[in-house]
Amino acid sequence: MKKAKGVVWDLGCLYTKENDPEINKDSDSALERARSFQEQYHGKIDAGTCTPELLLAAVKEYEAIIEASYRPYAMANLLFFADGRNDTYKAMVAKVQEAMTRINNEMLFFSLEIQSVTDEKMAELLESGVLSHYKHHLESLRLFTPHMLSEKEEQVVNRKNLSGKTAFVNLFDEFTADFEWEFELDGEKNTVTQSELRELARHQDAEVRRRAKEAHDGKFGDNALIFTNIFGSLIKDHATEMEMRGYESPIQPSLLNNKVPAEVVNTMMDVTGAHNHLPQQFCRLKAKMLGLSKLKGSDLHAPVNQSGKVVPFENGKALVLESFSSFSPEFGKIIRGAFEQNWIDAEIRPGKRGGAFCYSVGPSAHPFVLMNYVDNIDSVYTMAHEFGHALHSVLACEKESLLTFHPPLVLAETASVFAEMLLTRKLLAEETDRESRVQIIASKLEDFFGTISRQTMYTRFELDTHLEGAKHRLSADDFCRLWIKHRDEMYGDTVDFLEEEKWFWSVIPHFIHSRFYCYAYTFGALFVLALFNQYEKEGEAFVPKYRALLAAGDSNWPEHLIQELGLDFSEKSFWEGGFVVIESLLNELTELVG
Ligand SMILES: [Zn+2]
Repeated sequence: MKKAKGVVWDLGCLYTKENDPEINKDSDSALERARSFQEQYHGKIDAGTCTPELLLAAVKEYEAIIEASYRPYAMANLLFFADGRNDTYKAMVAKVQEAMTRINNEMLFFSLEIQSVTDEKMAELLESGVLSHYKHHLESLRLFTPHMLSEKEEQVVNRKNLSGKTAFVNLFDEFTADFEWEFELDGEKNTVTQSELRELARHQDAEVRRRAKEAHDGKFGDNALIFTNIFGSLIKDHATEMEMRGYESPIQPSLLNNKVPAEVVNTMMDVTGAHNHLPQQFCRLKAKMLGLSKLKGSDLHAPVNQSGKVVPFENGKALVLESFSSFSPEFGKIIRGAFEQNWIDAEIRPGKRGGAFCYSVGPSAHPFVLMNYVDNIDSVYTMAHEFGHALHSVLACEKESLLTFHPPLVLAETASVFAEMLLTRKLLAEETDRESRVQIIASKLEDFFGTISRQTMYTRFELDTHLEGAKHRLSADDFCRLWIKHRDEMYGDTVDFLEEEKWFWSVIPHFIHSRFYCYAYTFGALFVLALFNQYEKEGEAFVPKYRALLAAGDSNWPEHLIQELGLDFSEKSFWEGGFVVIESLLNELTELVG
């Protein structure tokens, strides 16, 4: 079977067929219920007379309405993802989106009222225990309450943002989207786009990589005036808003959103910084693998002896199944069932959505996995990753409900990355070919240093620009100086960076689109490695604890969920455990490359 031909998902657990009349009926009745919900509860939640029983009835009905509206929504979207050229599906998506917006608008008052209940009243409502299932959900909704402005002020901020913050973000997107380069390859001059140039920056030939990287970053430097203005204005805007809303630090809103305490993130970043000798060691090894005396900045993403190993879908499926089963027979059984019941759409078809994802519908249906299987080891990793998500969802839906099953952001990639680690262990246990082993380990390590060490360096840079930028307007030189400082802290003297690479800060869209997001990547990856280290130490005894963590969904704060495992992520030693796994892979690579 080539390229997973015939591996198509079965949406039967949602609706029997694509034109099932129940789809429209469900959508209409959810809207009807949302209207009655509005009539019944508006003004009653933040009234002094609200009782725990009334609030419980309201949350349950709210949840049931979202659940009911979500099934037609999922059906339309999944059909569309599987065949984006079908006009009927396009129309279905437009229709369910409109219905969803109307339902959300009808019920918007509910979360606003929960946010405006006084602290004393909320404590009284929660005290009885009647609301225990939703306690964490209600508390999460209220996290931002102390930082909210008056309704009038919020409206002014929102409207002014369109010509302020949002305008700068749009300027960045539109300005960079049009970037083009003249690039000469094999004696031929061509105009290339940003993504084409980035491909060339990973070319096999070191000279092509260097020219591509120079051209790419240099163009951002040529436009430093614009980027300095965009970055500077967004930093100032953020500082003003933090002051108005009474936040302690520029990163605090993001920490609240991720539900992690500041000290934990500080500890994690300190431990990561203290292990910079590991990416440095990797860079020296990589130079050796490429036959260079030292890496240039443009060699960091150079390909290392790619094996062309063909892995047909059936073999990939067996590898994934065995990785899960070897950890826990129960996990293996769940994933076997997923294949038998066709949760996955893996074949390549025209019109099908690219990339891969796991789509969780909640307790009322099983999750769905979409991917495009191309008969190589990367595809097997993708499959393990997405089934990790699916497993997480299945376990969390056992006891949790729609509002409480979805893992908090920092734990969202736990099961997926853990599944990749299980696959890595399995592959290394079986692979005897030296070249293949080098490739498996090197590409994993490159991933880890990219998500752990490098994203921490981004966050350090971002923090500094916000702290300094709140005091005075940063010049282009200020940005470059801070960038080089943090970059050199990570890489030491193991890499000769090109002069143009000092502009790379202005390339990274996260600084523009989602302030202080990068540390969440570090968190997700290092957290899983720390868990994996625990698993290697404890063996079997770890399995039920890990299962409980996944099954807890979003029912409590991440720090409590971790405590249940007997671990404490405010401790340095917890995060250091993650580097134990990295170090052992690095040692093995050192031996192989030797
Ligand atoms: Zn994922």
